Amino acid sequence: MEVRSSRRLSSGSGGCPVSSVSPRKTSNANEPKSAPPNMKGSFLNHDHTHAIIYKSDPPVRFNLEGDLPEISNMEIEDLDENIDQAFAKFMRAHKCYDLIPTSAKLVIFDTQLNVKKAFFALVYNGVRAAPLWDTSKQDYVGMLTITDFINILHKYYKSPLIKMEELENHKIQTWREELKDKQRPFVCIEPDANLYQAIKTLITSKVHRLPVVDRVSGNALYVLTHKRILRFLYIYINELPKPGYMRQSLEELSIGTYENLVKATPKTPIIKALNMFVDHHISALPICDADGRVINIYAKFDVINLAAEKTYNDLDITIEQALQHKTQESWFEGVVTCKKNDTLEVVIEKIVKAEVHRLIVVDDEQRMFGVVSLSDILNYLILKPFGDFVSKKS
Ligand code: ADP
Ligand code: ADP
Ligand code: AMP
Repeated sequence: MEVRSSRRLSSGSGGCPVSSVSPRKTSNANEPKSAPPNMKGSFLNHDHTHAIIYKSDPPVRFNLEGDLPEISNMEIEDLDENIDQAFAKFMRAHKCYDLIPTSAKLVIFDTQLNVKKAFFALVYNGVRAAPLWDTSKQDYVGMLTITDFINILHKYYKSPLIKMEELENHKIQTWREELKDKQRPFVCIEPDANLYQAIKTLITSKVHRLPVVDRVSGNALYVLTHKRILRFLYIYINELPKPGYMRQSLEELSIGTYENLVKATPKTPIIKALNMFVDHHISALPICDADGRVINIYAKFDVINLAAEKTYNDLDITIEQALQHKTQESWFEGVVTCKKNDTLEVVIEKIVKAEVHRLIVVDDEQRMFGVVSLSDILNYLILKPFGDFVSKKS
């Protein structure tokens, strides 16, 4: 593997509106093919597959734990006027830029990269997603996430005896063309957009990864998530007026999902779990025992272990087998749950501290009763007070 530095695009090359974008103007055939702006490229040369993985220099920005702006210096209009809107106004008063950490790794893949190598590179770099750069279009064209790994396994897996040639040989671009129905336009946001807009974009676009892209330079700076945004609010939550609904329960507020729950058992084969992710558009499967008690969880995130351990060729193994490493390790403290009569305040504290994307709502016997995800919470907390609540049917 050789490391080379990338050429820079001239500033002002294209832009990125708040929600989905159509591709920027395609490059002139005479223009040199260049890397995304401000990216260092690692040049991979394997088996006729040349591709570039771009890694950012860490941008110098605020650090979430440390040098955030002082709350007393922030001007937030009419915070006390309608207390139910206080958190939404806080989000409107802050920019995406404010959440970009001092040091963050951003990995960008060229669409000519071999798809299997791209997933290995996610593992190797310890990131969950990467924007995709199309050199011929001189533009970002989408994201590569663990959902894409799942979609590929779901489409091409036959049995442990048959190698998935498509996973072995396809470039990202070829695979995107083959799974066109699963592709969506690139969704990104500008650093100057406020966090209310970011939440609205995440929830209406039903994505979990929102790249922050500078309109002027074309630089991708960071990938925002629900987790990062709620954590930011949580840091300041005691400085803000507390809306009355924070003391009401999940049940009273109807936050979360309580019907058509999707779950699995320890004996569910991994391939069936992947099918459930694809068919039901859920981000995690609670694992329940014969009495319906929640004993574990298999999240989309956990699927990347199949790449890390190179075990994706046998998807007939059970969830129990796939999660063996997790249950044996001391850091696994069990599934993080809550009760339907827990107040929203308690639920937020729990989900932020556990650093997970959802809590499983259980009854007194630990049986699954519902799911409350960060998207449910942000939808209620931030979008609803301004009439932008996104209903599940939309
Ligand atoms: P994850 O797999 O990390 O939970 P998502 O649920 O957001 O990520 O991914 C669902 C699908 O949407 C994937 O095919 C992914 O490539 C795509 N996707 C995710 N984020 C974006 C984005 N910002 N723009 C375009 N497509 C995206
Ligand atoms: P992401 O950061 O990509 O949104 P998740 O929060 O879904 O990822 O998952 C990260 C890890 O946390 C995974 O190993 C997953 O199994 C675990 N996890 C997710 N939700 C829970 C939960 N409620 N209780 C315990 N572990 C969880
Ligand atoms: P998420 O993708 O986790 O942000 O969740 C999107 C929606 O799906 C939210 O309304 C969740 O409550 C719901 N949800 C998440 N996991 C499950 C599940 N296993 N069964 C049913 N609904 C779920």
